[in-house]
Amino acid sequence: MTFRNRLTTIIITAVLFMSACKSTQDAGIISYDPPGATTETKPIDLQERMVFQIDDAGIFADNMFVGARINDFSKTGPKHYRALITPENAPINRSPWYAFRVWADEPQLARIQLWYEDGAHRYYPKISRDRKTWTPVDSVHFNHDRTIGSAWVSLMVGPDTLYVSGQEILDTGMIHSWAGELADEKPFITTSQIGESHQGRPIMKMEIDGTETDDPGVIIVIGRQHPPEVTGSMGMMAFVDRMADDSELSRRFREQFRVVVIPVMNPDGVDKGHWRHNFGGVDLNRDWITFNQPENRAVRDELLKIKDSGHQVYYGLDFHSTSYDVFYTINKDIPYFSHGLTDRWLEGITRILPDYELVEEPFGVASPIAKNWIFHTFGAGAVTYEIGDNTPRELVRDVARAAATSLMEEVLKVKE
Ligand SMILES: [Zn+2]
Repeated sequence: MTFRNRLTTIIITAVLFMSACKSTQDAGIISYDPPGATTETKPIDLQERMVFQIDDAGIFADNMFVGARINDFSKTGPKHYRALITPENAPINRSPWYAFRVWADEPQLARIQLWYEDGAHRYYPKISRDRKTWTPVDSVHFNHDRTIGSAWVSLMVGPDTLYVSGQEILDTGMIHSWAGELADEKPFITTSQIGESHQGRPIMKMEIDGTETDDPGVIIVIGRQHPPEVTGSMGMMAFVDRMADDSELSRRFREQFRVVVIPVMNPDGVDKGHWRHNFGGVDLNRDWITFNQPENRAVRDELLKIKDSGHQVYYGLDFHSTSYDVFYTINKDIPYFSHGLTDRWLEGITRILPDYELVEEPFGVASPIAKNWIFHTFGAGAVTYEIGDNTPRELVRDVARAAATSLMEEVLKVKE
């Protein structure tokens, strides 16, 4: 084997290893950080917001909207272009996020390569004219070369601006609007600011509290620690909507339980189109022991008020996205309040959706992730609730609603 071949083998092995770890990273079994890495603030590369112009083709691309990411746009041949997509800093989880607009003076076909630095393709491209309705590009117009981790998308572009994005754009403002509208509609919901991100964006809390008891139980919900994990937000919103609805079960639940929701924990990362980290260049879901980051400190300090209140936390859910739907629960031999609740909760989801193939992967509680902090702080069960990048959106919502229904039923049985 030549040196070059050996090097290639080593690189391929490393890439395969990193991909294989991906599904376990959120569970904290293996951290992608190099040994000795910390969650102390690191420098990040700022994305320059600008319009890229290819003069001889009359074609343009830009990143001048919330959630956008594209770091360069260049012509590589007739009708061929390259969109450079780089992370906020590296090393970094393989979650290259991209979102940009493209348009042209005259209608024309453009074959755009998604070229990633420090990462390989993950998100299947979607297109939109208005940032509200999104359509996955037709598979005949998409190629993915796994050996080099790059992808190509062919698009008809013209004077009407076309959005191209790794997932539907669900930015901080949109999610906070959802929370605000729910609070306007429902007297038992409030929103408030609990702190600030690195860049001074508000970290919001939404609280469902219609309790009619001195001793309510508490459910904790956390969302969007990782910026591109849009399906996680979709699930989180459907889950909370269900707990806030007018059904008899939800009403009964709300008499006994309050729900503390942090809808967007990493607003800087979401709005700046980051792949993984906050503005301090850190994976927030690795900072739940050292609390070096302002986002983690703000959420910790807010949640610790539950402890001061003396109210029992019954469950914590931290919503994420990965390549498939999976519930990362706590190892079965580790006792927590309430015994067997996780099993009964997941069985309930399967009862409601008998055709849904629910995947549970229990893990230990040592790693510095939100799920484990909730367990150690409140003695409660908790889950890293992972939703597949490509799970049909209707199913994302159905499962999240079923998860809320089943959890409400089971915690009521424990409390009553
Ligand atoms: Zn995640």
